[in-house]
Amino acid sequence: MADNFKNFINGEWVEPSTGTYFENRNPAKQKDLIGHFPRSSREDVDRAVAAAKAAFPDWSRTPAPARGDILRRVGDLLTERKDEIAKAATREMGKTLQETRGDLQEGIDTAYYAGVEGRRLFGHTVPSELRNKWAMTYRRPIGVCGLITPFNFPLAIPTWKMFPALICGNTVVIKPAEDTPHTVALLIEVLEEAGIPKGVVNLVHGLGEEVGAAIVEHPDIPVISFTGSTETGSIIAQQCGRMHKRLSLEMGGKNAQIVLADADLDLAIDGVLWGAFGTTGQRCTATSRLLLQDEIHDEFVARLMERAKGLKLGYGLEKDVEVGPLIHEASLKKVEEYIEIGKGEATLAMGGERATGDGLDDGFFFQPTIFTDVKPGSRLATEEIFGPVLSVIRFGELDEAIRINNEVKYGLSSSLYTRDAVASFRAFQDLDNGITYVNAPTIGAEAHLPFGGVKQTGNGHREGGWEVYEFYSETKVCYLDYSGKLQRAQIDNYEASPY
Ligand code: ADP
Repeated sequence: MADNFKNFINGEWVEPSTGTYFENRNPAKQKDLIGHFPRSSREDVDRAVAAAKAAFPDWSRTPAPARGDILRRVGDLLTERKDEIAKAATREMGKTLQETRGDLQEGIDTAYYAGVEGRRLFGHTVPSELRNKWAMTYRRPIGVCGLITPFNFPLAIPTWKMFPALICGNTVVIKPAEDTPHTVALLIEVLEEAGIPKGVVNLVHGLGEEVGAAIVEHPDIPVISFTGSTETGSIIAQQCGRMHKRLSLEMGGKNAQIVLADADLDLAIDGVLWGAFGTTGQRCTATSRLLLQDEIHDEFVARLMERAKGLKLGYGLEKDVEVGPLIHEASLKKVEEYIEIGKGEATLAMGGERATGDGLDDGFFFQPTIFTDVKPGSRLATEEIFGPVLSVIRFGELDEAIRINNEVKYGLSSSLYTRDAVASFRAFQDLDNGITYVNAPTIGAEAHLPFGGVKQTGNGHREGGWEVYEFYSETKVCYLDYSGKLQRAQIDNYEASPY
């Protein structure tokens, strides 16, 4: 009998007010029931928000270095429990243990980075235009932050949002993806053990349209951070716009790897295999387009297919497995629909079907798939599939590749393989993406650098690095005039000036 999991509200593990639960099963082995998770309601969200609001005055006045101490402890505990939590993440999410260990490490790095940021949180000191007057800024906490996270990085993405929010002095209510609630429950256990004060972090499990929507619509949550599909992001943005909320969106991608004829082809093949089929193509930075220069196109495709055919599919906890399952049946169906669309637009060079046999029948496995002769502008070339499907596009000159890269509505990540320094800088300058890699795949963000995309991938904010701290705090400007007289900015200084 699998466990009934609970919400975490005001420092306590509590049952949902609804008394109802949803099942969480292993996507590689559907018979494996991980547990029943609360199908919470607005009432549970209200309770969590009330707890977060009550905890805010004290937490926001706790010195940021002291808040940072708790996060350093969180980093230590995540390190101790890295294997155990990574295994739980693989069991509910499907990607390989090597990848979920990476996911955990990203959370650990984010914890330590945030811990140190508690000793910085810099403002600016700026000269005033008037005599005997100081001008400076500092970063002020905002309030309760609502965090809505996806399944594909079940540990890292929650930490990307939660840790900076906490360091800045905010309290949080988090709703994890319904496919990966267990990993976040374990993260909350770690925060609890690290000594996070009650009410500062609250976890409400549930469905997007119920708990997610209740968080977005809650009048006492001024800040929302969301990672997920562009469609859901639009719904959330409309609501936040109506309620004047601060919103960070991290959404879809249609990321391209461009290979020039002068590139190290072995390196480029390693890159695209990892970029396209790692995490079963379910990363927002996944390589879903491969742009090959004419001269090397045929050789590259042949060698890539040879390697891709050798990828081992299976349960991510088993030895040597390289590609796990898709997250659920709906995702598998979506990929199948795109295979049909693709067959009408391009050449199916390999894959294209559910993967069966050999221990795969009870999971959502799909063969690594490659389409060639894909035309720029076609649906295969422009729409996000979120599965192990790679579309190969042929091009002549770098300018053409840049144009093709840029003619999609998304703008998260891009990659160029070349030995040409000039081409590399052209890529940095002209590819319309938030992240460009040279001689590395489209995936591989580091915790201390800003992460995010342009166009419909995001709304101008960044996660990670130093920039995210701006999102979770308000800039307060402070002037102190010690001249002892009324000094009028823009008037007294200029009228007294000989210039
Ligand atoms: P993905 O396809 O990556 O799962 P989704 O956008 O469907 O992306 O889900 C990402 C997160 O958004 C999940 O936690 C999900 O429950 C939540 N979500 C889905 N619909 C809504 C909604 N209408 N309002 C708020 N959150 C939602």
